Amino acid sequence: MLSTTHTTLDIDGSRLHVPQGFNYSCSGCGRCCKGVAVPMTQEDYERVSAIDWSKDEATAGFDWERQFRQLGKKENDSTTYTHAIRPTDTGHCPFLINNLCHIHAKYGEHVKPLICGLFPYSFNRTPSGVYLTVSFRSNAVLANTGTPLAEQPDTLAEKLRVYETLYNARSTIWDQCKLTVDKPIIWDDYLKLEERLIGAIVKPDAKIKQIFEDCIAILFAELGRPLPASNNGDFFAKAGAMPIKGADKKFLSQLYELYYPSDPRMVNRDVIFNGISFALGLAFKGPKFRYINKSYSFETLMAVPWPEDREINDLLVRFLYSRVFGKWYFGGGFAQLSVISGFHHLLLSFILIRLHATASALYRGEPKASMLDVMTSVRQIEEKISVAELDGYSAALWELMLFSPGRMARLLQKAF
Ligand code: SF4
Repeated sequence: MLSTTHTTLDIDGSRLHVPQGFNYSCSGCGRCCKGVAVPMTQEDYERVSAIDWSKDEATAGFDWERQFRQLGKKENDSTTYTHAIRPTDTGHCPFLINNLCHIHAKYGEHVKPLICGLFPYSFNRTPSGVYLTVSFRSNAVLANTGTPLAEQPDTLAEKLRVYETLYNARSTIWDQCKLTVDKPIIWDDYLKLEERLIGAIVKPDAKIKQIFEDCIAILFAELGRPLPASNNGDFFAKAGAMPIKGADKKFLSQLYELYYPSDPRMVNRDVIFNGISFALGLAFKGPKFRYINKSYSFETLMAVPWPEDREINDLLVRFLYSRVFGKWYFGGGFAQLSVISGFHHLLLSFILIRLHATASALYRGEPKASMLDVMTSVRQIEEKISVAELDGYSAALWELMLFSPGRMARLLQKAF
């Protein structure tokens, strides 16, 4: 069960914080090897590219002249990676054959890129230690099946060593944390605030909508600007009675296009967020939400009721917990956004999951989203936000667009 407490392990002098309520054991589904360009260190590249894959029957069909690429300066600025394996047109790693890693099967685990041994364990180094989560790209993580993370100390020690080889101290910068643009927050104060957020997230039987409402109220109380109503319910109920503004829908549809791109060439690419084209999109594009070859309006998707389903709610709550506990939503964990804007971006990501899962159901002629629709939508958001990059102008634009609690409340009330 998710909890306000977690386990802390001392591994070779590093404090590793391990969440409760998260299970994982590899189910061999091969899903982790799809949807991303696998990054490689120089040593990985030399080891893997030294093998003549064109002479191997299983891999001969690939264009080995272009299957590896060197990373640009911006891409490897703060990492130890120098190259990447290009995914195939269907989005999987070319070494994934019959759902098995061909490098592993033929040459052994030690020949694969280091990152492959780490995945889906995800570590985030912060001023108070390293925080562990697992990626929701994995089927086993989505289903929360396997051994509890806290019961895998030997595996975690081994994975942590790999992480420390791959990610040096420069990889994450936490010294400029802000609650909002003009209000810095010191790390110890952030941790106390996070404790309160986690307390709201793990409340027994809480629905995702209530959790977001409570968390937004906690954030604005911390900012010294409590939500303008006698209690939070009033504020959110009033917001829910307001019509959704055109700008809200456009902002959502622009984000939707980034995380659920309709252009098939963008599906397997990293999200590089360009503020100027985003601003142009806001000005000139109508708010549409595409699923394969069909477009839906915001109103059509929101008119479909969100399923009252315990399993779906549990999955969303676990996903939110993992982003907050792992600190993967603000500062060094996400594009140096402030805590409030980062949290609001998370909320919008959940609304996009709602829109995408509903579009998927409508596309199949179903009356509402199923667990499978939601799992697929969560997986894709995880894939995209884990690699999203914002340029400086974009970060400033996001801070501006994401601050308003009224905008978040309006959208939240319509969505869930
Ligand atoms: S190299 Fe192997 S383990 Fe790594 S992504 Fe490709 S198929 Fe998967």
